[in-house]
Amino acid sequence: MPKNFTIKRNNIDKILNTHPFSYNPDDQEHLKEECGVFGIIGNSEAAAHTVLGLHALQHRGQEGAGIISCDTEKFYKHMAFGKVGDKFNKASIIKSLEGDSAIGHNRYSTSGGQKQIANIQPLFAEMGCGKMALAHNGNLTNAVTLRKQLIKTGSIFSTTMDSEVVIHLLATSKKGNVTDCLIDALTQVQGAYSMIALTPEAMIGVRDPHGVRPLMLGMLDGAYILCSETCALDIIAAEFVREIEPGEMVIIKDGEIQSLKPFEKAPSKFCIFEYVYFSRPDSIINDRSLYNARKNMGIELAKEMPVGADVVIPVPDSGVASAIGYSQQSGIPFELGIIRNHYVGRTFIEPTDSIRHLGVKLKHNANKPIIEGKKVILIDDSIVRGTTSRKIVDMVRAAGAKEVHMRISSPPTIGPCFYGVDTPTKDKLLASRMSVDDMAEYINADSLSFLSVDALYRAMGETKRNNDMPQYCDACFTDEYPIEVVDKNSNRAIEC
Ligand code: AMP
Repeated sequence: MPKNFTIKRNNIDKILNTHPFSYNPDDQEHLKEECGVFGIIGNSEAAAHTVLGLHALQHRGQEGAGIISCDTEKFYKHMAFGKVGDKFNKASIIKSLEGDSAIGHNRYSTSGGQKQIANIQPLFAEMGCGKMALAHNGNLTNAVTLRKQLIKTGSIFSTTMDSEVVIHLLATSKKGNVTDCLIDALTQVQGAYSMIALTPEAMIGVRDPHGVRPLMLGMLDGAYILCSETCALDIIAAEFVREIEPGEMVIIKDGEIQSLKPFEKAPSKFCIFEYVYFSRPDSIINDRSLYNARKNMGIELAKEMPVGADVVIPVPDSGVASAIGYSQQSGIPFELGIIRNHYVGRTFIEPTDSIRHLGVKLKHNANKPIIEGKKVILIDDSIVRGTTSRKIVDMVRAAGAKEVHMRISSPPTIGPCFYGVDTPTKDKLLASRMSVDDMAEYINADSLSFLSVDALYRAMGETKRNNDMPQYCDACFTDEYPIEVVDKNSNRAIEC
């Protein structure tokens, strides 16, 4: 442990508590958004498959889920707070969701007053252009501005979701059919969206022009499927067909698929954080295995930030693949020195910071015989507020580690995400307010290093980041936002 550490750490606590944007563990102002979507058309067990698909996508949102099905004319819905496996497991629920088509949505946790059943998607509305259910993954960056304009002209909102503006834009569109109304509506929104819409005749999938969030197309016995990640196809033994392209809209009707490119072309900006953390490691995005990408990040990290130690230990589960890469590259043995209790959800997805603190304790335990007397390299994918790393380092020290070196398989998180990943505001991101050395002290590590931005790109198969035209959206690591954030200051007033 660094000398005088206790004093220094107290100092840092003091700085944190007196900073103008001081750290407040009870703060609940930030709203969270990251979702999973799934839809299927042309299958007599549409609802059952949607339940399974949402279950595979549970990591993208655990607060609640909703399914809307359709039997050519009538729509049926079921919405619930809680996990899919707990809340959609009854045969009676699945049976009540009649029809050959269904779409579903997993919702990320939100806080306080935002926890209302109306905020669970899919949204549903009957409009001049017809009836439609809508499930959205992403975040619209001009939703507050649009919402204010729409309210002025008579729209009545019934949720606090950014996605609801799409419904009102659809309802007020002067275009003829549903597809044209949807294109008209989406032309007015900015930000990230991978959406699935269900009408009595068709299922529509659409991705924003930059393609920030994923959207996959699959097939099962002639039925088409749209979903956030390939792991949702695997669970129902469906075949992966292709990805919906950035800016593409597909209309699936009567077993046929029609592809449109209705929006102005924009450079592709897929979220690099999906590779770092968010998507499941057994998913494949853009022909790239998430697991391999993470392992490569570990390899690059070992090349860039080596340290002599006895053992490489991942913070499970998020650090496992990169720790394997780090161990292979460095030749230092990989061990499961921290055991995760799988019956607790991702700490971040719990609704309050106080529970998040508790969650870390509930979730991880040190595997003492592996750690005692050893120089340990701990690997995690990211540090956001520093809560997890701080607890884990202390836990590993308490288990008798001689030295603890923290290695993070992504660059420091310095910018909040406005495109659909839950990150706290900038003032709460540890790396935006402290140097790496101060962060090392704060988390009580003997050393702390992050992967560089170029090394992250190398792990993704690029030679480096193209600074004139970055290949991904990496705003959380660079503070460079590829899509204008119109409502930067106010978009947290409603859930965006
Ligand atoms: P923190 O304790 O605030 O530093 O959070 C870091 C931990 O949260 C790491 O173990 C990450 O795997 C995980 N994490 C990072 N970003 C997110 C996110 N957007 N949602 C959920 N968990 C995250």
